Amino acid sequence: MLKTSITSILCTLVLLITAPAIAQQVREPKVTKQEWLKPYPPFRIAGNLYYVGTYDLACYLIVTAKGNILINTGVASSAAQIKSSIEQLGFRLADTKILLTTQAHFDHLGAMAAIKKMTGAEMMVDEKDADVLRDGGKSDYEMGGDASAFEPVQPARLLRDGDTIALDNMKLVILHHPGHTKGSCSYLFTVNDEQQAYKVLIANMPSIITERPFAEVTSYPGIAEDYARIHVKGYEGHFF
Ligand SMILES: [Zn+2]
Repeated sequence: MLKTSITSILCTLVLLITAPAIAQQVREPKVTKQEWLKPYPPFRIAGNLYYVGTYDLACYLIVTAKGNILINTGVASSAAQIKSSIEQLGFRLADTKILLTTQAHFDHLGAMAAIKKMTGAEMMVDEKDADVLRDGGKSDYEMGGDASAFEPVQPARLLRDGDTIALDNMKLVILHHPGHTKGSCSYLFTVNDEQQAYKVLIANMPSIITERPFAEVTSYPGIAEDYARIHVKGYEGHFF
């Protein structure tokens, strides 16, 4: 009886200790491009739009009087650098209210869970990338596997093509540009500086990551049609 109880307690303890570890197991792919990690001085792009990414992984900050919007985070280790870049510009990471990404891959979402915890901001994602966001990339059609490639993030809002994301006087329109991931997307909005207004497109470039013929990518039915559609129509009229 006593032995059974001890065994049962031990089993419970083992479960308590291992369950969170299993749930949060993240194996970020090895970063081979040093440019992804190399710091880059933050700068104002135009109006209230700023660059806060690394040398070769772009992250953007849109600043408003009611808080800020952060688009993309780079890899996991970039969290501290993004915080530092935002502070160097004279802003506060804690003022981040909305988190966005252009695609659910680890080199855009690696630090998203950490920054969400640090800020309490709401994550919004193209609905077609929501599952991959929630499982840290395990269900990605090409890069998925047993372990998460980035720490999973729970979205607060799912976005569809043409939806508006509003904060203070900013209105961003999401453009669904699938193919690279099922929910790759771009953001279209206007910023103003002292002289003029600028129409801005933060575009997800539709590079092809699979080396298989599209017909063999059964984990993404419709991949050929998605790429064909965005190459013909997706960016039409939206370049600077
Ligand atoms: Zn990617």
